[in-house]
Amino acid sequence: MGTWERLRRVAWPLAAGMLVAILLTSSNADAAWIVFGAVAIVALAMSAAAGRARPRLGNAASGGEATASGLPVSARDVFERLPDPLMLLDASERVVFANRAMRAVIGVDAERKHVSSLLRTPAVLEAVRRSAARGEPTSVEFTFPVPIQRTYQAYIARIAGGPVATILLLHDLTAMKRAEQMRADFVANASHELRTPLAALSGFIDTLKGHARDDMAAREQFLGIMTVEAERMRRLIDDLLSLTRIEQNEHVPPSGETSLETVLREAMATLMPLAKAEGISLEMAAAPGMPPVAGERDELIQIFQNLIHNAIKYGKPGGHVWLSLGLAAAPGGRGAEQMLAAGIRDDGEGIPQNAVPRLTERFYRVDVKRSREKGGTGLGLAIVKHIVNRHQGRLTIESMPGEGSTFTVYLPAARPAGAVTEMS
Ligand code: ADP
Repeated sequence: MGTWERLRRVAWPLAAGMLVAILLTSSNADAAWIVFGAVAIVALAMSAAAGRARPRLGNAASGGEATASGLPVSARDVFERLPDPLMLLDASERVVFANRAMRAVIGVDAERKHVSSLLRTPAVLEAVRRSAARGEPTSVEFTFPVPIQRTYQAYIARIAGGPVATILLLHDLTAMKRAEQMRADFVANASHELRTPLAALSGFIDTLKGHARDDMAAREQFLGIMTVEAERMRRLIDDLLSLTRIEQNEHVPPSGETSLETVLREAMATLMPLAKAEGISLEMAAAPGMPPVAGERDELIQIFQNLIHNAIKYGKPGGHVWLSLGLAAAPGGRGAEQMLAAGIRDDGEGIPQNAVPRLTERFYRVDVKRSREKGGTGLGLAIVKHIVNRHQGRLTIESMPGEGSTFTVYLPAARPAGAVTEMS
């Protein structure tokens, strides 16, 4: 084999690997992708070099040998394993190769088919043509509406003088778009929630400046309502700040060890006056000898304050709220791990079955008016969910409309039950 031929064999996989790396680094890809691109370059270069050194064995294609499509086997293997969909086209825009991820997107055997019969999105086809005409890389965002709406960014680049003329890589933006939409909805909801009490406050200020100026009785009444509305705004801002702080720390494992029984008793003591005012009895039954949980005391207290507060708010006037603490298997049969289970049960109005899965969504309320009357912000259970996640716990909700609800928080023990603590 001549020197020129050897160079060609090394150059193709190297160029392909570099292209993949360039495409990946330019696609807002995370570090893992960039590393993957770098590994691809090295793997391709090494296999090409091995292909040069290795003697030919029969007809078996070695790392540097070309397949029927003209692609070296090693390059094909690397492309096949890329998690992002990749398609290589020849000069007539027919598919030379489509990797597994791309086959999952287009759902058919693509080899030798024209790109327009596989990706029927005019924007992508136009970008392929533009890239071919100008020889420059292009990128275009597009959406597949069915079966489930997915949004991709397509990166298209030209390669001159080989079996492959165009490389088309898709980057899935669906999760990012969904997160963007959720952020926008959250801001819209938060503004709406704040605007309502603000509008009430402005209205009463105008009234007090106008015709109620000299009406002492009306003034007292309006100032009372204004205090309630200002309180609502303060609670909402406190909950929004709590939620943001907890979300920021969600991936940081909690430090410290805490007795869950002490946490439950503290939360219960804080809410006892409210329970008494509503004529609700608040009781607790805790199994003895519970191991501590790994967790931040203040965050855990917030979980149980929110849950007990809800049990009182949506409980039966003159009814009961029962707190329980014991050991239980992880819910949903996940692992054999024993967890601490803290339950809050009420005998109140209960929750309709279809609402249960949505309760931990921000601002979701079964009855908005009733939640507002009770001073709710619609963020309490969202806060609970995030704190439970941070503590690697689980939250389950069981409810029977008309009979009551049970919210159970499962938290992993900091050490096995009965383990001896070594004191230094
Ligand atoms: P809110 O501030 O409205 O109480 P949460 O996030 O704490 O917000 O709760 C969301 C919704 O879940 C409530 O508005 C209510 O409809 C329902 N909910 C929560 N706890 C209970 C409960 N113990 N019984 C019945 N419904 C409940």
